[in-house]
Amino acid sequence: MQTLVYYTTAILLFFVGLFIWLERKYPYTKGLPLFREGFWVDLVWYTLIQSYFLKIFIFDYIILPADRTWHLSSLRLVGSWPLVWQVLFFLVIHDFYIYWFHRWQHHSKLLWRTHEAHHSNKEVDWLAGSRSHAVEILINQTVEFAPIILLGANPLVVPIKALIDAVWGMYIHSNINVRSGRLQYVINGPEMHQWHHANYREVFYANFGTKFACWDWLFGTAYLPDVKPEEFGLYYPYPRDYFVQHLFSVKRMDEKRLMNSHPLLKAYHSSRQRLVQAVRRLVAPVPARSAANPSPAASAGKNVE
Ligand SMILES: [Zn+2]
Ligand SMILES: [Zn+2]
Repeated sequence: MQTLVYYTTAILLFFVGLFIWLERKYPYTKGLPLFREGFWVDLVWYTLIQSYFLKIFIFDYIILPADRTWHLSSLRLVGSWPLVWQVLFFLVIHDFYIYWFHRWQHHSKLLWRTHEAHHSNKEVDWLAGSRSHAVEILINQTVEFAPIILLGANPLVVPIKALIDAVWGMYIHSNINVRSGRLQYVINGPEMHQWHHANYREVFYANFGTKFACWDWLFGTAYLPDVKPEEFGLYYPYPRDYFVQHLFSVKRMDEKRLMNSHPLLKAYHSSRQRLVQAVRRLVAPVPARSAANPSPAASAGKNVE
């Protein structure tokens, strides 16, 4: 299993490098910097820290105790199938679930609070998809991995599926000018998902697919015009700090005012800013482009929560 972890990590890093290179070579939106606004929050907090702790919580405190109680995995209901069929089976059923749950998140005011973080990046690239509220990950990954364990699938299905999720997630958000033609009716990609992140009213209820675009075409939510969106993200101000982002999902507040409300918060906020600036100077001496680049064409996406 340890060797498998090395292999999947190596494959993942290969795709990270590939997507970064393709974004520079064939950009969907020109001029988007690698170290965009929110890059470090997405990488450090969402990709590394949050996913590490949620993985432990989901497997060790939800799925495995459930299996120890019900002993369902011992029935090996899908365990005798060829590995590739098991992976495909879980890939398709989970993607079908994600389509409907994602659609519901856009229609329900309560569930939107668990999804707005994912839409908050004003510049969308290979890393932007990692920004997902902890509750959203908790729900979706429990629904994803519990059946794999409880139906007694081959233990390899979990790391293979996790790798596919990570690579596909980077791909659909990547700032790459993909033109997949008819394949876009089946396989989802940046062509449709970049639009899903646009701050335009007409896409707020469109392009909910993650891996497969066919759900959107089948259920009438596909949106794929010839032009590209000019503005991404939310139509309302959204906090920059990871913890404030989660607090904001429970109680609306002004981030600046909150950070100035207590000396400890003030100290935390300024040290965080100093750290980000120091790291940015170290890895990207050229100042990143401003995220706030309002475009008149984007004014359509208002009042949609
Ligand atoms: Zn969405
Ligand atoms: Zn997305």
